[in-house]
Formats: sequence, C-alpha cells, structure tokens
Amino acid sequence: MTGHSTDTSAGLDRETSLAGISPEYRRVLLKVSGEALMGAGDFGLDPVTVSAIAADVADVHRMGVEVGLVIGGGNIFRGIAAAARGMERAQGDYAGMLATVINALMMQNALENCGVDTRVMSAIQMSSIAEPYIRRRAVRHMEKGRVVIFAAGTGNPFFTTDTAAALRAAEMDCTALFKGTQVDGVYSADPRKDPNATRFDELTYLEVLSRDLNVMDASAISLARENSLPIIVFNIHAPGAFGKVIRGEGLFTRIIDPA
Ligand code: UDP
Repeated sequence: MTGHSTDTSAGLDRETSLAGISPEYRRVLLKVSGEALMGAGDFGLDPVTVSAIAADVADVHRMGVEVGLVIGGGNIFRGIAAAARGMERAQGDYAGMLATVINALMMQNALENCGVDTRVMSAIQMSSIAEPYIRRRAVRHMEKGRVVIFAAGTGNPFFTTDTAAALRAAEMDCTALFKGTQVDGVYSADPRKDPNATRFDELTYLEVLSRDLNVMDASAISLARENSLPIIVFNIHAPGAFGKVIRGEGLFTRIIDPA
C-alpha cells in the first residue's frame, strides 16, 4: 500500500511543504506550448530550454503540488499549417499529435534528470513508449506524486493541445490550469509589437472570448468556464516562474468567473 492517502509520514511531509500554498493550487495542470521548447531556434527542441522548464516543474513538485503536464507540438508539426499546403487536415492533425509525443518524451527525460518520477500517458495508443491514457489510472499516478505528461492531445483531429489541457485538467479534477507563455500574462495587444499594450491582472472567461484575446483557443476557454477552472497565464521563460506563481508571487493574469 503506497500513496498519499495511506502513507501517513508522506502525507505529513506533503502538508508541511504545502504550507503557505493556496488550496487552489494543490493539483494543477500546466500547459506548455511546443514553441516554448524551441529556445532561440525556430524549429524543434532546445535541450537547455527543456531542462530549465523541467527544473521549474520539479521545484513545484517538490513543494508537494500534484502536477500534470500537457505539451503542444507546434515546434515540430501543426496540422493546420500542413493543410494550408495541401495536406488533408485530419491526417496533418494526427501527425501534429505525434509531434506532442516526441515533446512529451523529451520532457519526461528532462524531469527524470531532475529526480522526478513521471509517466507519459498517450491519447493515441503506442504501448512500447507510453501508457494508454486511462483517467482513473492517471489520477492514481498524480496521487502517488508522479508528474503525468499527457501526450497526443485529445487523441482527435480538429482539436488543439489547449483544449486537451482544459479537458485533462477537468478530468483530473485539477484546481487550476496554468498556461506558460512567452510573456508575463494576457495583454490588450501583443506587447512585443505594440508599445501601448497593457497587461491584465484579472479577466473573466467571457472577456477573453468577446475581446478575442489571444490566450487559448475558444473551446479551451469555454471548457474551463463550464468547469469553473481558473486559468493562470504567466511567462514560462522567467527562471523559477512556475514556482513563484504557485506561491502567488510575480506577474501573471488570472482568468476566472466574475465575483
Ligand atoms: N492536435 C490535434 N488534436 C489535439 C491536439 C493537437 O489534432 O487534440 C494536432 C494539431 O494538428 C496541432 C498539433 O497537434 O496543430 C500540435 O498541437 P498544438 O498546435 O496545440 O501545439 P502548440 O501550439 O501548443 O505547440
């Protein structure tokens, strides 16, 4: 018999390290886009960047927070871009989902280098390299303190890994969905292009949808809204940023229901 529910000393350790962390952040899902893994490059993976993100996730895991990860595949393949060049969309999307599996394996390796126990669970079965995604099993992995990396998106074409992140977060009963981006929150316009862009501390789901703010796709926002799942948008590249945001420090935007 193992796990937090039966091992009292592990349970006490976890409670001690969780002291000061909002109960809202005890089981969270982090969405990292494929592009965030490219570093300064414009394709593929930069091992230094992957290791830095893994170290950040490992810190949060050491605080006692249960963490699930959904990783995109846009650094390798996007179905919609392939469709624009004449490929059948669904076929392109399946290729895109396979790209997320490559990223998941790289992230698993980087997390293990940080001493974190992980499982990759894939929505498309490939039993030699990943467990099939089974919801109850994934919950159990998280309860046992393993970081679960959800690969292959939703397993369906015409969806994105943003939607997969909202879906898995809801299924895992996560208390918040973190979206690691290139900037420190949601802005009125792209701050890298528009000097007048302003950052929001807080937004409602409906504001994000009606103002067409570029945070996550509309189906992901709607799914989060239906499940009252707060979305926290922060800069994944700032060192230690994930840990800081979990402690309520640093800059981020919270997307929630109106009070
Ligand atoms: N994809 C899909 N279904 C899903 C998730 C992803 O078909 O549930 C495909 C889609 O082609 C997408 C690609 O996988 O373009 C990579 O995912 P995404 O664009 O969400 O990655 P990110 O932008 O986060 O790197």
